[in-house]
Amino acid sequence: MNTKSYPLLTHCPICHSLYATEDVKLIEQKEDAKLYHSFCHNCGHGLLAYVLEVAGGISSIGLITDASGTDMVRLAEYQAISGDECVGAHRLILENSRGLCQRLLDISGKLA
Ligand SMILES: [Zn+2]
Repeated sequence: MNTKSYPLLTHCPICHSLYATEDVKLIEQKEDAKLYHSFCHNCGHGLLAYVLEVAGGISSIGLITDASGTDMVRLAEYQAISGDECVGAHRLILENSRGLCQRLLDISGKLA
């Protein structure tokens, strides 16, 4: 697929500025599916675009993100997090919310 022929990979969906060629990166590719990250220098938003080539057309999903292209390349190499791990993290945070909040306040106080 030519990225220059697909609007999601040529224009920022927030401010409609044109992306520079170097601001659109292919992060991951599997069979007919590709994951791109683009960054808009005009408004500062990033976009993750999951593009699926199907018979007779292209389907896509876009997600605005503050993650950089470098972050996305790094994260694509990690194993996916399971639903059980998400639930476990949620429970851990709930059970330790007082200590977590105190730690975050301590950290923000040190940075202020
Ligand atoms: Zn923009």
